[in-house]
Amino acid sequence: MRVAIFGTGYVGLVTGTCLAEVGHDVVCIDVDQAKIDGLNAGVIPIYEPGLETMVRANHAAGRLSFTTDAAAGVGRGDVIFIAVGTPPDEDGSADLRYVLQVARTIGERLHRPAIIVDKSTVPVGTADRVRAEIATALDARGADIAFDVVSNPEFLKEGAAVEDCMRPDRIVIGSDSPGAIGTLRRLYAPFNRNHDRIVTMDVRSAELTKYAANAMLATKISFMNEIANIAERVGADVEMVRKGIGSDPRIGWHFIYPGAGYGGSCFPKDVQALARTSAQLGHEPMLLSAVESVNERQKGHLFELVQRHFDKGEDEGIRGRTFAVWGLAFKPNTDDMREASSRKLLAQLWQAGAKVRAYDPEATDEARRIFGERDDLVLCDSEQAALEGADALVVVTEWKQFRSPDFRQLKAALGAGVVFDGRNVYDPREVEDAGLAYYGIGRGRSI
Ligand code: NAD
Repeated sequence: MRVAIFGTGYVGLVTGTCLAEVGHDVVCIDVDQAKIDGLNAGVIPIYEPGLETMVRANHAAGRLSFTTDAAAGVGRGDVIFIAVGTPPDEDGSADLRYVLQVARTIGERLHRPAIIVDKSTVPVGTADRVRAEIATALDARGADIAFDVVSNPEFLKEGAAVEDCMRPDRIVIGSDSPGAIGTLRRLYAPFNRNHDRIVTMDVRSAELTKYAANAMLATKISFMNEIANIAERVGADVEMVRKGIGSDPRIGWHFIYPGAGYGGSCFPKDVQALARTSAQLGHEPMLLSAVESVNERQKGHLFELVQRHFDKGEDEGIRGRTFAVWGLAFKPNTDDMREASSRKLLAQLWQAGAKVRAYDPEATDEARRIFGERDDLVLCDSEQAALEGADALVVVTEWKQFRSPDFRQLKAALGAGVVFDGRNVYDPREVEDAGLAYYGIGRGRSI
């Protein structure tokens, strides 16, 4: 099938590439000329495991092309995806500017019937607004062309996006048009062979499903962080508690890790946007508000541990100290630093007069773009280099390569001999046996 995708970010590029991989003819459209030029030259703008090889192979095979020419894109698609960003507005609601702009562009250029598929995460009711925007643009041209608007939210996880797209848990299709549902079933058939993963529903339920999924996951994280903070105070180890509750199949093992708070481009903005929708409709979103404020507080927790350590000893506090920071991305296997916990920690350390030597396997370029040149930041090219001259180590992102360091080497390298483990990846006893002080999240003894 012929597919056009507006927005060549994490979602658009991965979706387009996976659709091309199974044989569809895909054109990706973006307004960012540099991104499109790069992609045409084989430069992949984001890091996702497996993506680069797949983009190059499908581009070379002629099934995947990149353009800034919206007219060419609309003209080639039987199915046209909207996968542009929906960043938070000033009041926390989703900013639909880019989505509606694409809808207008489609209406201005559509010349034959097509199915418009909303893949961006958008508030309930957006499909109606997209439909109205396209209809108005068609009317303005005096064009009478049939089109459907379908909601098909995306559930891929950054860091495993290609795998998720090739083997989705479920494919949600929201539409009241049997024809449109049939076309999308055919489009997704190659991903749906093992068993039926397609769940069809009305448009509004599909739009809400995406928010409900992210809000549930964010709730699990904030819940565990709440328990971690209680554990710290009552002298319990939240890691034991986690193992104790995860074995209950009603609770399960996934997404119950305490840590330095959730970040990324989705959870923070989607929880906020859902809360906003709810409040606007007169329903106070008590749980969602709590999920959000627990997370905000948790992002500051690592720095509280740092303060607690350095203010209680005979040391002169944090000012003038150097901190090695392992991990800048909001989670492992991505270069994405949007809303990352590391950003809050670094800002707090700098505010307190500390210097940072940071290492991340993939996010260094992104960090350079965000922070620019600063005297109090050195972006290092290995975890070892980050330790040079550092007083303490803070682990913010649980990249696999950080999980088993040589603690004796750490002890020799770190001036103040202390490790802050923001993701509970270490065994406190092992760290302490090497003569280091250890602070984790919710590990009773750290108070
Ligand atoms: P992104 O910021 O990585 O990419 C968005 C792209 O859209 C950019 O390249 C931008 O230049 C382009 N764009 C903006 N206006 C455009 C226009 N008028 N025409 C063509 N291109 C345009 O965003 P993303 O992370 O891919 O997210 C896209 C949507 O998918 C969001 O609604 C997001 O909430 C949702 N989502 C994201 C993820 C994720 O893990 N990143 C997962 C599921 C859903």
